[in-house]
Amino acid sequence: MYRIDILIQGFPGKAVCHGGLGWSTIALLRSADRTILVDVGSFGMRKPLEKQLKAHGVAPGDVTDVVLTHAHYDHSVNFVLFDKATVWIGREELDWASAQPPGFNPLPELYVDALASESRVRRVASGEEFLPGITAIAAPGHTPGSLIFHLTANETPVIFTGDAAKNRAELLSRAVDASEDDAASTASIEAIWALWKAVPGTLLIPGHDLSMLLDEAGRPVYVGEREAGIRAWFSETLEDTSLINLNGKA
Ligand SMILES: [Zn+2]
Repeated sequence: MYRIDILIQGFPGKAVCHGGLGWSTIALLRSADRTILVDVGSFGMRKPLEKQLKAHGVAPGDVTDVVLTHAHYDHSVNFVLFDKATVWIGREELDWASAQPPGFNPLPELYVDALASESRVRRVASGEEFLPGITAIAAPGHTPGSLIFHLTANETPVIFTGDAAKNRAELLSRAVDASEDDAASTASIEAIWALWKAVPGTLLIPGHDLSMLLDEAGRPVYVGEREAGIRAWFSETLEDTSLINLNGKA
């Protein structure tokens, strides 16, 4: 049985002129003997992540396991902050990511090198229950070795989809933005749907959106409220800021 807290809520969007925001979900799972992070965010998230860990009474050294859905920078680079943790990533993902030359993509080349060489990094295969009650399942497309995680240790199951299904729009449309293989992505989303519908009450935690449940009609409904925005200095003083609301409401 795990207690699950969403430390950082993923956001379904990208900048107009500045590329991906990289605002991805970070989840904290705690059992009697494990403290697990599912994805660890990007550099910009270090301060809010530090604050959230503190608020939940977790010191970085308490984290026993860091579980990565895939190698992209916005999910992976902060593994270095949890030096006591075993780091879990898909074998195929790490083999693929470390074979890529530097490129204009979201792979953090030097962090991928570190993942490939550090002895505390463990490579996970699809179908493996690598932590008690947590099974990795291959969900290729977004990246060739993307994994989703099926947690069956709780009364109702939980699915962590990472970027195999980043947000509600991708789940509903079965089409994805930013995939290495569109057909594989669609097949992965169908597999996620099958798993989601298999047990009523299953919670889905995506890489870049609020958590979701299925309503009685089988439609995804959000759990909780979206909180997102930007504070900008468009004026002449540091005190006078403009708040740009990104919570999806007027
Ligand atoms: Zn990604």
